[in-house]
Amino acid sequence: MNLIIFGAPGVGKGTQAKIISEKLNIAHISTGDILREAVKNKTELGSKAKAIMDSGELVPDEIVAGIVKDTLNSDKCSNGFILDGFPRTLPQAQLLKTIFDELKIKDIKLIKLDAEDQVMINRLSSRRVCSSCGKIISKDEVFDGVKCSICGEVNSFIKRSDDDEEVIKRRLTVYHNTTSPVFDYYQDKVTIIEVDGTQPVEDVTKEILQKLNLN
Ligand code: AMP
Repeated sequence: MNLIIFGAPGVGKGTQAKIISEKLNIAHISTGDILREAVKNKTELGSKAKAIMDSGELVPDEIVAGIVKDTLNSDKCSNGFILDGFPRTLPQAQLLKTIFDELKIKDIKLIKLDAEDQVMINRLSSRRVCSSCGKIISKDEVFDGVKCSICGEVNSFIKRSDDDEEVIKRRLTVYHNTTSPVFDYYQDKVTIIEVDGTQPVEDVTKEILQKLNLN
C-alpha cells in the first residue's frame, strides 16, 4: 500500500505513521526524522538543515525530494510506504509526481488528519521525544528514571529544539501558507481519507484502517 499522511505539525502524523507502517508492514518515511538523524550525525546534509529546522522554516525542496527519491527507490519500500512530512510545498508535490512516474508507483492514498491550531500548540509544547528511538510522549509522563517502552533507554526523553513556543507558531504559519495548498493539489489526483486528529490515538488509527477498508 502506498500512503501519504498529511496535516499540520503536531496533528499526530508521526505517531499514526509509525503504527500504520508496523500494522501494514510498509516503510515509514519521515523526512523530519531523516533530517534530524543527519543533524545528529553532523553530516553535510545535517549541517545545511540544522539552522533552518531550528527556525521552523523549510529545508530546500530539491534536497528533501532527493532524500525521498533515494528512499522510495530502495528495497525498504518494496512492500509499500507511508510518507510522513512530505510533500510540504507545491514544488515538492510536483517533484513527487515525477518520482512516482519514474519509479512506476501508482494507487496513492492520502490520509489527512485535522485539528484546530490550539490543539497542535498544546500538544507540541508538551511533547517529549525519545532521543534513542523517536517514541513520542507528553511531558506529564516524564519522571526521573523513566524507561522508554519501545527501546528500553532510560532518561532518554528530550524536548525537540523546534518545539519551542515561538518556533511552533512559525511552523504553523508555514503550514497554513505553504503546505495546506498541497492538499488542494491532490483533490482530483489521489484517493483522499479525512480523519479527526483530535480523537485518542487508538481511535484515529481505527478510523484510518476502516477508511482504508482494512478492518
Ligand atoms: P517534522 O518532523 O516533519 O515536523 O519536520 C521537522 C522540520 O524538518 C521541519 O520544520 C522542516 O524544517 C524540516 N522538514 C521536514 N520535512 C520537510 C519537507 N518535506 N520539506 C522541507 N523541510 C522539511
